[in-house]
Amino acid sequence: MRQGSDPAESPHKPALRAIPPGLHLISTPIGAARDITLRALDVLAGADVLVAEDTRTLRHLMEIHGVPLGTRQVIAYHDHSGEGQLQRLLGLMAEGKSLAYASEAGTPLISDPGFELVRAVAAAGLPMSAAPGPCAAICALTLSGLPSDRFFFAGFPPSAQGARRTFLADLAAVQATLILYESPKRLAALLSEMVTVLGPARQVVVCRELTKRFEEVLRGGAADLAEQVAQRDIKGEIVVLVDRAPPSEVTEESIAEALDQALKTMSVKDAATFVSQTLGVPRKIAYKIALDRQG
Ligand code: SAM
Repeated sequence: MRQGSDPAESPHKPALRAIPPGLHLISTPIGAARDITLRALDVLAGADVLVAEDTRTLRHLMEIHGVPLGTRQVIAYHDHSGEGQLQRLLGLMAEGKSLAYASEAGTPLISDPGFELVRAVAAAGLPMSAAPGPCAAICALTLSGLPSDRFFFAGFPPSAQGARRTFLADLAAVQATLILYESPKRLAALLSEMVTVLGPARQVVVCRELTKRFEEVLRGGAADLAEQVAQRDIKGEIVVLVDRAPPSEVTEESIAEALDQALKTMSVKDAATFVSQTLGVPRKIAYKIALDRQG
């Protein structure tokens, strides 16, 4: 949280409600401090124990919003905390304590720690809730102008060139807007791999420093953006979004191929329905070709 950090701007009056036992995940700002939700502040004000990926960041966030820590403990929990720390947290919950958990920024578990903890809480049958809020992936999707009906969050691409190429090749045909996180140092390399693997015309959007002072959204074809970025010294936090692959051309041959596959396990009627739906062709046409294939 780097903006709007004047405590006087944010007089939070916590709801006078006890926080029930169990784990309470809270999302925290990805830039503008005032993006915290009132419910997240209530949880921070009322939980018995505070747990954070970065205890300093959480303390600072509470200071900004005037949430007193009092005598409560702030326990560190991150990907390297180990089984002992996990068991300690489960023990506290089993004793009836309420725990608030925040990762460093945004939504816990989204390219951030928390998964093992949530899985363990679910397996132990302990109560759990989430106070939703900021998430860079969703913020970027809403600003991108790319279709939002279906999206695929792929996290951080691998840093080694070969692994990154395979990673992109696996995503190339996904029929959804792709959302990736990337470090500014590797952005130029990622975009140039996109040109090679996804093609120069694939539409890409780069969202930088969302909710912060230097927020910026760049849109264009992969080649165009790769060129723009190569000429600049890009800094800050980055989300990269990629439009879905254009639909491949449907020909009589491709319908016949799809039907041959489907007919291995389906009746003519079912195969025709399936192929007409997956390729978007009239069922009558798929049915006629299926009958011809049956001979
Ligand atoms: N849990 C976080 C969330 O909900 O978005 C993500 C944590 S991940 C360790 C950090 C990455 O998220 C950054 O490297 C960047 O790719 C993306 N990110 C976080 N804040 C951002 C922002 N303000 N603008 C653009 N990208 C951001």
